[in-house]
Amino acid sequence: MKSPQREVTVGRFAPSPTGRMHLGNVYAAVLSWLSARKAGGRWILRIEDLDPQRSKIEYARLLEDDLRWLGLDWDEGGLDGKGPAAPYCQSERSYIYKEYYSKLEALGLTYRCHCRRADILASQAPHQSDGRVVYAGTCRPASAPPFAASADQSGAIRLYVPDSEIVFTDRVYGRQCVNLARECGDFIICRADGVWAYQLAVVADDAAMGVTEVVRGADLLLSAAQQIYLYGLLGLTPPEHAHLPLLCNEAGKRLSKRDGSLAMDALRLSRKPEDILGMVAGLAGITPGQDAISLAELLSEFSWDKIKV
Ligand code: GLU
Repeated sequence: MKSPQREVTVGRFAPSPTGRMHLGNVYAAVLSWLSARKAGGRWILRIEDLDPQRSKIEYARLLEDDLRWLGLDWDEGGLDGKGPAAPYCQSERSYIYKEYYSKLEALGLTYRCHCRRADILASQAPHQSDGRVVYAGTCRPASAPPFAASADQSGAIRLYVPDSEIVFTDRVYGRQCVNLARECGDFIICRADGVWAYQLAVVADDAAMGVTEVVRGADLLLSAAQQIYLYGLLGLTPPEHAHLPLLCNEAGKRLSKRDGSLAMDALRLSRKPEDILGMVAGLAGITPGQDAISLAELLSEFSWDKIKV
């Protein structure tokens, strides 16, 4: 399993079409686009519609419309899925995830899990301050890995994590040292209903698409450690990571797709693309205020040195 060799920077935006984009999503999209374009690189749009209950094609269409309205063009991907790594919608890429899973299974690091969420919440593992639960390993085979292949084809599939540190440097947050056993425990790579989990899909896709840099919100900083662990197991080189501070609404709460006021439908009623880009530029610290700015001007002003936590 080899990633395609790319001489250029390849960035990507990988939204889940579960609602209209809000300013926080736009912020990640703009910074990811700026970083790739500043380096003279390519930019991919991948639709992360793994969750059949929550993903809607209408949201993916609106998402593309919002990106075009802002002037953010992509070289590969999107709903019509043009490019060397097609298809670019995760719902059409299950056969690729299965291949990556087989490799992990062959390493003897996966096992079936029948715990229900309520059991996990009630288990003894410590809860993290942000509400995350650390899986206590209830269904993990008693012997140390490699685990023997199981005939059981039901339940979720979990990946064993060792009690050691994953170390990486984030372009914005600096050096990260994460012990996955302590932070999340063995994590799910395929849900009990057969839907591949984000962690496996994102690694498989970024690798297969030759992505060299991942720019996204800081809510995925822990995920980066899980993903770097997966890259190592699969013998793949991880991309560089840049996580962005999360934007909050006026009440100081993290923006969510359920938060209407800073959603693109509301913003587009009263603002021009340059106004939104100006807001992003100011929030990111690229410009001192939030004055309207064109995408070309923003690109010439952009530098990672200006982005602060
Ligand atoms: N699909 C994820 C989201 O919309 C982002 C995944 C990523 O950028 O790695 O939150």
